[in-house]
Amino acid sequence: MFSSEEKKHYMELAFAEAKKAEAQDEVPIGAIVVDPKGQVIGRGYNRRELDNVATHHAEILAINEACKTLNSWRLIDCSLFVTLEPCAMCAGAIINARLKEVFYGAPDHKAGASGSVVDLFAVEKFNHHPQVIRGLYRDKASSMLTNFFRTIRAKQKEKKLKAKENKASSSQID
Ligand SMILES: [Zn+2]
Repeated sequence: MFSSEEKKHYMELAFAEAKKAEAQDEVPIGAIVVDPKGQVIGRGYNRRELDNVATHHAEILAINEACKTLNSWRLIDCSLFVTLEPCAMCAGAIINARLKEVFYGAPDHKAGASGSVVDLFAVEKFNHHPQVIRGLYRDKASSMLTNFFRTIRAKQKEKKLKAKENKASSSQID
């Protein structure tokens, strides 16, 4: 069991990962894996666009690193902290890696597989059921994403405006 101070600390580390994505114009999603002793053994941030790889979600990269660290595909008694609700692929990876628990921040109404679209963690027939703690620092996690998309839209608008201006000035020269 983590204390609220510890949970805050680990979520901050997941947010730090998300910031790395944001700094590279990638949707800011970050994840970390913590072992039973409280050591961070895996980190990851969304790199889908950067790598042009559909599976390069934050959770997958953090899980891969943790497996490498432990030299095992089983992450027994380990916990995952992620800023956004895991998608179906990541929920599948979490189940396959036998993670003990998942803490996440914001819900993902379009792709979330922990209750928003489906709840894979609640499917009884699966052989493993991680504990799920939803909405940890939800406001911070949500606003990080909202701000990112707002900035993207503003940038696109500015680009369009500039293109229009350039067109107008070049037609004046004509
Ligand atoms: Zn995912």
